[in-house]
Amino acid sequence: RAKQLGGGRAEVHRPGSPDPSQDRLAVLEQLRAALREGQLRVHYQPRVHLRSGDVTGVEALVRWEHPGRGLLSPAAFVDAAETSGVIRELGAWVLAEAATQAVAWDREPGGRLAGLQVSVNLSTRQLADDDLVARVTEVLERTGLAPSRLVLEITETALMHRPGAALRALRELKALGVLLAVDDFGTGYSSLTYLKQFPVDELKIDRSFVSGMHTDPADHAIVAGCVHLAHALGLVVVAEGLETPEQVVALRAMGCDQAQGFLLGRPGTPEALALARAEAPDIDLTAAGRTPAPS
Ligand code: C2E
Ligand code: MG
Ligand code: MG
Ligand code: MG
Repeated sequence: RAKQLGGGRAEVHRPGSPDPSQDRLAVLEQLRAALREGQLRVHYQPRVHLRSGDVTGVEALVRWEHPGRGLLSPAAFVDAAETSGVIRELGAWVLAEAATQAVAWDREPGGRLAGLQVSVNLSTRQLADDDLVARVTEVLERTGLAPSRLVLEITETALMHRPGAALRALRELKALGVLLAVDDFGTGYSSLTYLKQFPVDELKIDRSFVSGMHTDPADHAIVAGCVHLAHALGLVVVAEGLETPEQVVALRAMGCDQAQGFLLGRPGTPEALALARAEAPDIDLTAAGRTPAPS
Protein backbone atom coordinates (compact mmCIF):
# COMPACT_ATOMS: atom_id res chain seq x y z
CA ARG A 1 0.00 0.00 0.00
CA ALA A 2 2.83 2.40 0.84
CA LYS A 3 4.19 1.84 -2.66
CA GLN A 4 0.86 2.81 -4.23
CA LEU A 5 0.95 6.23 -2.69
CA GLY A 6 3.50 7.04 -5.26
CA GLY A 7 6.91 8.25 -6.13
CA GLY A 8 9.67 6.19 -4.56
CA ARG A 9 9.19 7.01 -0.94
CA ALA A 10 11.65 5.49 1.47
CA GLU A 11 10.52 3.23 4.27
CA VAL A 12 10.69 4.66 7.75
CA HIS A 13 12.76 1.65 8.84
CA ARG A 14 16.27 2.61 9.82
CA PRO A 15 19.09 0.18 9.36
CA GLY A 16 20.02 -1.28 12.71
CA SER A 17 16.62 -1.06 14.32
CA PRO A 18 15.27 -4.56 14.90
CA ASP A 19 11.55 -4.23 14.21
CA PRO A 20 10.17 -2.03 11.42
CA SER A 21 6.69 -1.87 12.97
CA GLN A 22 8.16 -0.70 16.27
CA ASP A 23 10.15 1.81 14.33
CA ARG A 24 7.01 3.05 12.60
CA LEU A 25 5.23 3.44 15.92
CA ALA A 26 8.15 5.40 17.28
CA VAL A 27 8.12 7.68 14.24
CA LEU A 28 4.39 8.28 14.72
CA GLU A 29 4.76 9.12 18.39
CA GLN A 30 7.50 11.55 17.50
CA LEU A 31 5.49 12.99 14.62
CA ARG A 32 2.55 13.75 16.90
CA ALA A 33 4.95 15.46 19.25
CA ALA A 34 6.52 17.30 16.32
CA LEU A 35 3.11 18.73 15.38
CA ARG A 36 2.51 19.84 18.97
CA GLU A 37 5.97 21.26 19.42
CA GLY A 38 6.26 23.03 16.10
CA GLN A 39 9.03 20.97 14.49
CA LEU A 40 7.41 20.86 11.07
CA ARG A 41 8.42 23.31 8.37
CA VAL A 42 7.14 24.13 4.92
CA HIS A 43 9.61 24.66 2.11
CA TYR A 44 8.55 26.27 -1.14
CA GLN A 45 9.61 25.49 -4.69
CA PRO A 46 8.90 27.97 -7.49
CA ARG A 47 6.83 27.06 -10.51
CA VAL A 48 7.80 28.96 -13.63
CA HIS A 49 6.06 29.97 -16.81
CA LEU A 50 8.17 28.41 -19.57
CA ARG A 51 7.74 31.15 -22.12
CA SER A 52 8.12 34.26 -19.97
CA GLY A 53 10.24 32.85 -17.16
CA ASP A 54 7.85 34.41 -14.63
CA VAL A 55 7.27 32.65 -11.36
CA THR A 56 3.58 31.77 -11.32
CA GLY A 57 3.40 30.05 -7.98
CA VAL A 58 5.09 27.91 -5.39
CA GLU A 59 4.55 24.37 -4.17
CA ALA A 60 4.46 23.80 -0.43
CA LEU A 61 6.56 20.79 0.56
CA VAL A 62 6.62 19.63 4.16
CA ARG A 63 9.83 19.04 6.12
CA TRP A 64 10.45 17.84 9.65
CA GLU A 65 13.14 19.46 11.69
CA HIS A 66 13.81 16.40 13.80
CA PRO A 67 15.71 17.14 17.00
CA GLY A 68 17.99 14.10 16.61
CA ARG A 69 17.99 13.37 12.89
CA GLY A 70 18.11 16.77 11.26
CA LEU A 71 15.88 18.01 8.47
CA LEU A 72 13.80 15.07 7.20
CA SER A 73 12.14 14.94 3.79
CA PRO A 74 8.57 13.68 3.39
CA ALA A 75 9.90 10.29 2.24
CA ALA A 76 10.85 9.61 5.86
CA PHE A 77 7.42 10.21 7.40
CA VAL A 78 4.53 10.98 5.02
CA ASP A 79 3.63 7.34 4.37
CA ALA A 80 3.58 6.59 8.10
CA ALA A 81 1.42 9.66 8.62
CA GLU A 82 -0.92 8.52 5.86
CA THR A 83 -1.42 4.94 7.06
CA SER A 84 -1.97 6.07 10.65
CA GLY A 85 -4.27 8.99 9.96
CA VAL A 86 -1.85 11.57 11.43
CA ILE A 87 -1.84 12.97 7.88
CA ARG A 88 -5.12 14.77 8.69
CA GLU A 89 -3.50 17.00 11.26
CA LEU A 90 -0.28 17.24 9.26
CA GLY A 91 -2.14 18.18 6.09
CA ALA A 92 -4.32 20.70 7.88
CA TRP A 93 -1.23 22.28 9.36
CA VAL A 94 0.57 22.51 5.98
CA LEU A 95 -2.53 24.01 4.34
CA ALA A 96 -2.91 26.69 7.01
CA GLU A 97 0.82 27.43 7.01
CA ALA A 98 1.04 27.75 3.22
CA ALA A 99 -2.01 30.01 2.98
CA THR A 100 -0.69 32.19 5.80
CA GLN A 101 2.68 32.44 4.05
CA ALA A 102 1.16 33.40 0.71
CA VAL A 103 -0.78 36.23 2.35
CA ALA A 104 2.33 37.32 4.26
CA TRP A 105 4.23 37.62 0.97
CA ASP A 106 1.48 39.88 -0.34
CA ARG A 107 2.12 42.30 2.49
CA GLU A 108 5.90 42.42 2.14
CA PRO A 109 7.33 45.72 0.97
CA GLY A 110 8.48 45.41 -2.62
CA GLY A 111 5.92 42.70 -3.21
CA ARG A 112 8.19 40.47 -5.29
CA LEU A 113 6.31 37.39 -4.16
CA ALA A 114 2.90 39.02 -3.99
CA GLY A 115 -0.07 37.41 -5.67
CA LEU A 116 1.54 34.03 -6.25
CA GLN A 117 -0.48 30.85 -6.32
CA VAL A 118 0.36 28.29 -3.67
CA SER A 119 0.06 24.56 -4.34
CA VAL A 120 -0.57 22.14 -1.48
CA ASN A 121 -0.39 18.34 -1.74
CA LEU A 122 -3.36 16.31 -0.57
CA SER A 123 -3.07 12.62 0.28
CA THR A 124 -5.54 9.82 -0.41
CA ARG A 125 -6.88 9.93 3.11
CA GLN A 126 -7.28 13.70 3.13
CA LEU A 127 -9.26 13.53 -0.09
CA ALA A 128 -11.59 10.98 1.53
CA ASP A 129 -11.96 13.09 4.69
CA ASP A 130 -15.49 14.44 5.20
CA ASP A 131 -14.03 17.51 6.87
CA LEU A 132 -11.81 18.47 3.93
CA VAL A 133 -14.10 21.05 2.36
CA ALA A 134 -14.88 22.63 5.72
CA ARG A 135 -11.17 22.79 6.51
CA VAL A 136 -10.25 24.42 3.24
CA THR A 137 -13.12 26.90 3.63
CA GLU A 138 -12.02 27.75 7.15
CA VAL A 139 -8.40 28.36 6.10
CA LEU A 140 -9.42 30.57 3.18
CA GLU A 141 -11.71 32.62 5.41
CA ARG A 142 -9.24 32.93 8.25
CA THR A 143 -6.25 33.91 6.09
CA GLY A 144 -8.14 35.91 3.47
CA LEU A 145 -6.38 34.04 0.65
CA ALA A 146 -8.39 34.27 -2.58
CA PRO A 147 -9.57 30.74 -3.46
CA SER A 148 -8.21 31.09 -7.00
CA ARG A 149 -4.71 31.32 -5.54
CA LEU A 150 -4.89 27.93 -3.87
CA VAL A 151 -4.04 24.86 -5.93
CA LEU A 152 -4.69 21.45 -4.42
CA GLU A 153 -2.47 18.71 -5.86
CA ILE A 154 -3.85 15.20 -5.85
CA THR A 155 -2.01 12.18 -7.23
CA GLU A 156 -3.61 10.00 -9.86
CA THR A 157 -3.44 7.13 -7.40
CA ALA A 158 -5.40 9.05 -4.77
CA LEU A 159 -8.00 10.00 -7.38
CA MET A 160 -8.41 6.44 -8.60
CA HIS A 161 -8.54 4.94 -5.09
CA ARG A 162 -12.30 5.58 -4.95
CA PRO A 163 -13.06 7.53 -8.12
CA GLY A 164 -16.73 8.12 -7.39
CA ALA A 165 -16.06 9.61 -3.97
CA ALA A 166 -13.11 11.55 -5.38
CA LEU A 167 -15.31 13.06 -8.06
CA ARG A 168 -17.79 14.30 -5.44
CA ALA A 169 -15.01 15.76 -3.31
CA LEU A 170 -13.44 17.50 -6.30
CA ARG A 171 -16.76 19.06 -7.28
CA GLU A 172 -17.22 20.44 -3.78
CA LEU A 173 -13.70 21.82 -3.77
CA LYS A 174 -14.18 23.37 -7.21
CA ALA A 175 -17.32 25.07 -5.94
CA LEU A 176 -15.12 26.93 -3.44
CA GLY A 177 -13.18 28.39 -6.35
CA VAL A 178 -9.88 26.63 -5.63
CA LEU A 179 -7.84 25.07 -8.45
CA LEU A 180 -7.14 21.36 -8.72
CA ALA A 181 -4.06 19.63 -10.12
CA VAL A 182 -3.35 16.01 -10.95
CA ASP A 183 0.11 15.28 -9.51
CA ASP A 184 2.68 12.73 -10.72
CA PHE A 185 0.66 12.20 -13.89
CA GLY A 186 1.55 9.03 -15.76
CA THR A 187 2.69 7.00 -12.77
CA GLY A 188 -0.68 5.81 -11.45
CA TYR A 189 -3.52 4.01 -13.09
CA SER A 190 -5.29 6.86 -14.78
CA SER A 191 -8.55 6.10 -16.36
CA LEU A 192 -9.08 8.58 -19.14
CA THR A 193 -12.80 8.21 -18.56
CA TYR A 194 -12.32 9.70 -15.11
CA LEU A 195 -9.72 12.23 -16.16
CA LYS A 196 -12.34 13.56 -18.54
CA GLN A 197 -14.90 13.86 -15.73
CA PHE A 198 -12.72 15.18 -12.92
CA PRO A 199 -13.04 18.97 -12.76
CA VAL A 200 -9.27 19.54 -12.70
CA ASP A 201 -7.36 22.58 -13.94
CA GLU A 202 -3.80 21.41 -14.14
CA LEU A 203 -1.81 18.32 -15.01
CA LYS A 204 1.70 17.76 -13.62
CA ILE A 205 3.83 15.40 -15.68
CA ASP A 206 5.85 13.14 -13.41
CA ARG A 207 9.56 13.81 -13.06
CA SER A 208 10.48 10.27 -14.17
CA PHE A 209 9.35 11.00 -17.74
CA VAL A 210 10.88 14.48 -17.84
CA SER A 211 14.27 13.21 -16.66
CA GLY A 212 14.30 10.46 -19.28
CA MET A 213 13.30 12.72 -22.16
CA HIS A 214 16.75 13.03 -23.70
CA THR A 215 17.88 9.45 -23.34
CA ASP A 216 14.69 7.50 -23.91
CA PRO A 217 12.55 8.24 -26.98
CA ALA A 218 9.59 6.63 -25.19
CA ASP A 219 9.82 9.18 -22.37
CA HIS A 220 10.04 11.97 -24.93
CA ALA A 221 6.92 10.65 -26.62
CA ILE A 222 5.08 10.32 -23.30
CA VAL A 223 5.86 13.89 -22.29
CA ALA A 224 4.80 15.22 -25.70
CA GLY A 225 1.66 13.11 -25.48
CA CYS A 226 0.82 14.42 -22.00
CA VAL A 227 1.22 18.04 -23.16
CA HIS A 228 -1.06 17.35 -26.08
CA LEU A 229 -3.65 15.52 -23.99
CA ALA A 230 -3.67 18.23 -21.31
CA HIS A 231 -4.23 20.98 -23.86
CA ALA A 232 -6.93 18.99 -25.64
CA LEU A 233 -8.73 18.74 -22.29
CA GLY A 234 -8.22 22.45 -21.62
CA LEU A 235 -5.75 21.94 -18.77
CA VAL A 236 -2.62 23.82 -17.86
CA VAL A 237 0.35 21.46 -18.10
CA VAL A 238 3.34 21.57 -15.77
CA ALA A 239 6.54 19.52 -16.13
CA GLU A 240 8.07 18.29 -12.87
CA GLY A 241 11.76 17.81 -12.14
CA LEU A 242 13.36 20.10 -14.70
CA GLU A 243 17.11 19.80 -14.28
CA THR A 244 18.75 20.73 -17.59
CA PRO A 245 18.56 23.57 -20.14
CA GLU A 246 18.00 20.93 -22.86
CA GLN A 247 14.78 19.97 -21.13
CA VAL A 248 13.68 23.61 -21.18
CA VAL A 249 14.24 23.80 -24.92
CA ALA A 250 12.39 20.53 -25.59
CA LEU A 251 9.45 21.39 -23.33
CA ARG A 252 9.06 24.81 -24.90
CA ALA A 253 9.07 23.24 -28.34
CA MET A 254 6.26 20.93 -27.18
CA GLY A 255 4.29 23.91 -25.92
CA CYS A 256 4.43 22.87 -22.27
CA ASP A 257 3.10 25.77 -20.16
CA GLN A 258 5.01 25.67 -16.91
CA ALA A 259 7.74 23.79 -15.11
CA GLN A 260 9.22 23.11 -11.73
CA GLY A 261 12.65 21.69 -10.99
CA PHE A 262 16.07 22.15 -9.50
CA LEU A 263 17.17 24.12 -12.59
CA LEU A 264 14.55 26.76 -11.86
CA GLY A 265 14.77 26.65 -8.08
CA ARG A 266 15.09 24.12 -5.30
CA PRO A 267 12.59 23.92 -2.48
CA GLY A 268 13.68 26.27 0.29
CA THR A 269 12.55 28.27 3.28
CA PRO A 270 10.32 31.29 2.65
CA GLU A 271 13.34 33.51 3.34
CA ALA A 272 15.50 31.65 0.79
CA LEU A 273 12.77 31.98 -1.83
CA ALA A 274 12.45 35.73 -1.25
CA LEU A 275 16.23 36.03 -1.58
CA ALA A 276 16.37 33.98 -4.77
CA ARG A 277 13.73 36.25 -6.28
CA ALA A 278 15.66 39.34 -5.22
CA GLU A 279 18.82 38.09 -6.89
CA ALA A 280 17.18 36.87 -10.07
CA PRO A 281 13.92 38.74 -10.54
CA ASP A 282 13.57 37.41 -14.06
CA ILE A 283 14.73 33.89 -14.63
CA ASP A 284 16.16 33.95 -18.13
CA LEU A 285 15.31 30.81 -19.96
CA THR A 286 16.10 32.20 -23.38
CA ALA A 287 19.73 31.17 -23.03
CA ALA A 288 19.65 27.47 -23.78
CA GLY A 289 23.15 27.07 -22.40
CA ARG A 290 22.27 28.45 -18.99
CA THR A 291 23.88 26.38 -16.27
CA PRO A 292 22.03 25.42 -13.10
CA ALA A 293 22.80 27.56 -10.10
CA PRO A 294 24.94 25.81 -7.49
CA SER A 295 22.81 24.66 -4.59
P1 C2E B 1 5.56 15.95 -5.28
O1 C2E B 1 4.31 16.60 -4.83
O2 C2E B 1 5.56 15.35 -6.63
O3 C2E B 1 6.68 17.05 -5.11
C1 C2E B 1 7.80 17.19 -5.95
C2 C2E B 1 9.02 16.51 -5.35
O4 C2E B 1 10.06 16.50 -6.34
C3 C2E B 1 9.60 17.23 -4.15
O5 C2E B 1 10.19 16.27 -3.29
C4 C2E B 1 10.69 18.09 -4.78
O6 C2E B 1 11.72 18.44 -3.89
C5 C2E B 1 11.20 17.15 -5.83
N1 C2E B 1 11.83 17.85 -6.95
C6 C2E B 1 11.49 19.03 -7.49
N2 C2E B 1 12.27 19.35 -8.54
C7 C2E B 1 13.16 18.34 -8.66
C8 C2E B 1 14.26 18.09 -9.56
O7 C2E B 1 14.57 18.87 -10.47
N3 C2E B 1 14.93 16.92 -9.38
C9 C2E B 1 14.63 16.04 -8.38
N4 C2E B 1 15.36 14.94 -8.27
N5 C2E B 1 13.60 16.25 -7.52
C10 C2E B 1 12.88 17.38 -7.66
P2 C2E B 1 9.91 16.22 -1.73
O8 C2E B 1 9.81 17.60 -1.15
O9 C2E B 1 10.89 15.27 -1.11
O10 C2E B 1 8.45 15.61 -1.64
C11 C2E B 1 8.19 14.30 -2.08
C12 C2E B 1 6.72 14.00 -2.08
O11 C2E B 1 6.19 14.03 -0.77
C13 C2E B 1 5.89 15.03 -2.86
O12 C2E B 1 5.98 14.78 -4.25
C14 C2E B 1 4.52 14.77 -2.28
O13 C2E B 1 3.93 13.65 -2.91
C15 C2E B 1 4.84 14.41 -0.84
N6 C2E B 1 4.60 15.60 0.01
C16 C2E B 1 5.38 16.67 0.24
N7 C2E B 1 4.78 17.55 1.07
C17 C2E B 1 3.55 17.01 1.36
C18 C2E B 1 2.45 17.45 2.18
O14 C2E B 1 2.44 18.53 2.77
N8 C2E B 1 1.37 16.60 2.23
C19 C2E B 1 1.33 15.41 1.56
N9 C2E B 1 0.24 14.66 1.66
N10 C2E B 1 2.35 15.00 0.79
C20 C2E B 1 3.44 15.78 0.70
MG1 MG C 1 6.30 13.17 -7.05
MG1 MG D 1 3.02 17.86 -5.63
MG1 MG E 1 4.62 15.43 -8.29
